[in-house]
This record gives sequence, C-alpha cells and structure tokens, in this order.
Amino acid sequence: MGSIILFGPPGAGKGTQAQRILDRTGQPQVSTGDMLRAAVAAGTPVGMEAKSYMESGALVPDEVIVRIIEERLTEPDAANGVMFDGFPRTIPQAEALDAIATIDAVIAIEVPDDEIVGRITGRYTCKPCGRVFHDVHLPLPPSGCPCGTFVEVRRADDSEATVRARLSTYHEQTSPVAEHYDRAGLLHRIDGVGDVDQISNAILAALGVE
Ligand code: AMP
Repeated sequence: MGSIILFGPPGAGKGTQAQRILDRTGQPQVSTGDMLRAAVAAGTPVGMEAKSYMESGALVPDEVIVRIIEERLTEPDAANGVMFDGFPRTIPQAEALDAIATIDAVIAIEVPDDEIVGRITGRYTCKPCGRVFHDVHLPLPPSGCPCGTFVEVRRADDSEATVRARLSTYHEQTSPVAEHYDRAGLLHRIDGVGDVDQISNAILAALGVE
C-alpha cells in the first residue's frame, strides 16, 4: 500500500478529515505543520529555523521540509504508507517525495477563499488529543471533548492578517502541486464546503474505502 496526500488551502479541513478517516485507511497522519509546531515548541534547530517563516505565513525552505519527511518515513509505522497533511506544498517537495514514496491518491479539498478566513479565525484544538473544533461550525460538545481532558489551544498564525498571507502563499506556490498530481492521474477533487460527515464519505469513496 502506498501513501495518500490530503491537499488543499489552509482551513480546507485537511487536519479534521485526516483524524476522521485515518482509522478507516489505517495510515498514520503525517502533518508537516504539526511537526514544525512541535519543533518550535521544543526549541530544536529545525524549530528555530522555521519559526519566523511560520509567523509570517511564508513557507519553510524545501530542504528543511524534505529532511524532516525523509526522517519521518524511516519510522516503523510509516512502512505501509502514510497520510500526508500539508505536504507537499511546492513542486520541488512533490518531486522529492516522488523519489522516496509511492503515492496512491491525492485528495484535493476545495474551499473558496472567502470561506477560509472565517473558518481559520474561529478554530481551536484540544491540546491533549489534537481534535479540531470551531466556534461556529464545529463547537465543543456540551459534554466536553471526547478525550475527557479538554485544554483549548489556538494557533499563533491563525490571525486574519496571517491567514491572508498564507492564502497568497498557497495560490502562488502550492496550487501548482495539484496539476503535478493531476498529470499523473492521481488527483481527486472534493468539495470541502458543507457537512463534515458528507465530506469524509466523499473522501473515502474517492479512496475506494468501504
Ligand atoms: P499548516 O499547519 O499545515 O497550516 O502549516 C503551518 C505553517 O508551517 C505553514 O504556514 C508554513 O509556514 C509551515 N509549513 C507546514 N508545512 C509546510 C511545507 N510542506 N512546506 C513549507 N512550509 C510548511
């Protein structure tokens, strides 16, 4: 079995959908954004290099990203493929990935820019378990987080100004990656606006998972 890529602009729901479908596909989620945030929090050399790019909504240099992905793919749980979330984000990253992994499918979750700003500025995560919530679209249930120990965190780069910078980075540098996989016959476009369950079902159908 190869790997799956969840592709789309910031706020498309890649992280939310990865959590919902990973128990059905069996592959671990590999989010470069999560790995970089952990590196920043731990103060590692990668974190120190990445921090200013992340704060401004720019992309971290390709060689840093490719290095952390190469390392991650050597871990035992990656042996049967992974679900990439937020990677690759440039053509050089996609070309580097082509050389080290087999990609079975690329799911492009499509959401218009107008919708994204509202989504991102309302989102928050439960720190212990990583579940994603939203002030309006996906509020914390009255019974609290299913993990039982809810601690709210909001990302530093989820401010409106940074979201707009991240969107223009996406349009300039990342959207050509969709064409790269379309040419390879691997791209599935999914409408990312609407009911979260229906979107999960559309993704599973595109992946051929019953
Ligand atoms: P994300 O959580 O995927 O929205 O990523 C947060 C930030 O981390 C991005 O705005 C970039 O600064 C950086 N980042 C994450 N993944 C990548 C990647 N594949 N290439 C370059 N920068 C990345």
